[in-house]
Amino acid sequence: MLRLYDTRSRQLEAIVPANGRVVRLYACGPTVYRYAHVGNLRSYLLPDLIRRVLEQSRVRSVICQNITDVGHLVDDDEIDPSGEDKVLQQARREGRSALEIARFYEDAFRRDLSTLNVRTPEYTPRASESIDLMIELIAKLIEMGHAYAVEDGSVFFDARSFPSYGEISGNRLDALKPGHRVEGVDPRKRFHADWALWKGAEREMTWETPWGRGFPGWHIECSAMSLRFLGEHIDIHTGGKDLRFPHHEDERAQSNASAGHDVVKHWVHGEHLLFDGRKMAKSTGNVLLLSDVKDAGLDPLAVRLAFLEHRYRQQMNLTWDTLQAADRTLRRWRQRVAEWAESPSRPIAAEYAARARAAFDDDLDTPAALRVVRELERDETVDPGSRFETFLHLDHVLGLDLSIDIGKPPAVPVLPPGATELLEARAKARDAKDWPTSDRLRDELATLGVKVTDTPDGQTWS
Ligand code: AMP
Ligand code: ZN
Repeated sequence: MLRLYDTRSRQLEAIVPANGRVVRLYACGPTVYRYAHVGNLRSYLLPDLIRRVLEQSRVRSVICQNITDVGHLVDDDEIDPSGEDKVLQQARREGRSALEIARFYEDAFRRDLSTLNVRTPEYTPRASESIDLMIELIAKLIEMGHAYAVEDGSVFFDARSFPSYGEISGNRLDALKPGHRVEGVDPRKRFHADWALWKGAEREMTWETPWGRGFPGWHIECSAMSLRFLGEHIDIHTGGKDLRFPHHEDERAQSNASAGHDVVKHWVHGEHLLFDGRKMAKSTGNVLLLSDVKDAGLDPLAVRLAFLEHRYRQQMNLTWDTLQAADRTLRRWRQRVAEWAESPSRPIAAEYAARARAAFDDDLDTPAALRVVRELERDETVDPGSRFETFLHLDHVLGLDLSIDIGKPPAVPVLPPGATELLEARAKARDAKDWPTSDRLRDELATLGVKVTDTPDGQTWS
């Protein structure tokens, strides 16, 4: 049986579906205003991994993952952020409509997930098409005394009406200070920690409501969509750890206030991905896209394997070296599987399969499961036909396409982004006999994974 670390209870909990044999899982989805970077993708892999591990125990899952195409503001880290909508801001930058931007990046997101063998969730509702659900939920919260409308058409959640606020992140209401961006407390609010469910506004992507024209807050979107598509008993809710506060605290308050009980049983959060030692984030420009990995001639599933080498709630530092190592492992395993496929089929190596499964069930200990895979690869006492079947069996969870690519010629090497410019600059430096610059550029290229060799005919690379 799968056990996961529950952020709210701060301990490992067995996953027992509230509703028979089907686990209901809600995964916070993307805001579709740019390409997802591989850090985001690490968070989106989590629900897929949970689903695949549950299937080993013959537990099925239903997954809902929202697509946020309106309402997520540029600065949504404060409990009540004010600012510009991320999608609208990008639309202005690219000279396109908000809808065009949202659909374009939503398609890119779906392609990325499919490339990473993340199975499509059963429900992927768009916020802009779920406005009625949000209006209904807000109206209910007002009626129950958990929310109040103000003159400009905005509606706020009354934080003090939900005393258990803060159980996920530890940010209790009495400890929350008034936001530092606003001069004093927003006079529209009854209490400084109240947050907007609806924001009165006249602009693109706004809707008419009983309170006035406007657009939804980001947090109410997830409450409305999860309650509608999965109901009032959701077994697991996932997201990256930065979503614990305020997004998940606010969502929990809204959903629980509406249902009258805890809607989500287990809150599960993925740790952040670092790239070359720094958090991968668009804001700092430290970003790697799946397309960069492909452009560098690597199999994009090397990213999936690199992720699996770390447990989901372990911080992980990705580098070009780790990606290249994962790519080599992937190719080697496929090669071996192709060789073993030549032998007659044999039953799976039950002891290895059981150990890997126990590792997966143990809070998704994928590094331990991969150690079992490597051990089996080397164990010559196990019949090749049996190793073939066991690798394929484990690949149901790993999702690495271990049985494909047989006989495929090796990928043509492609330079990583920025390397062409560095090679050109180095050729010039060598022409000018500027050896220090030439050496520096060679080292820079090496950090990108490009090895330069000087020949009588000039430099070559591999
Ligand atoms: P955002 O588009 O910033 O709302 O993020 C989308 C999802 O990606 C959320 O679940 C975030 O928690 C997650 N996320 C953002 N940055 C990282 C990162 N560097 N590593 C892992 N997950 C991340
Ligand atoms: Zn969410």
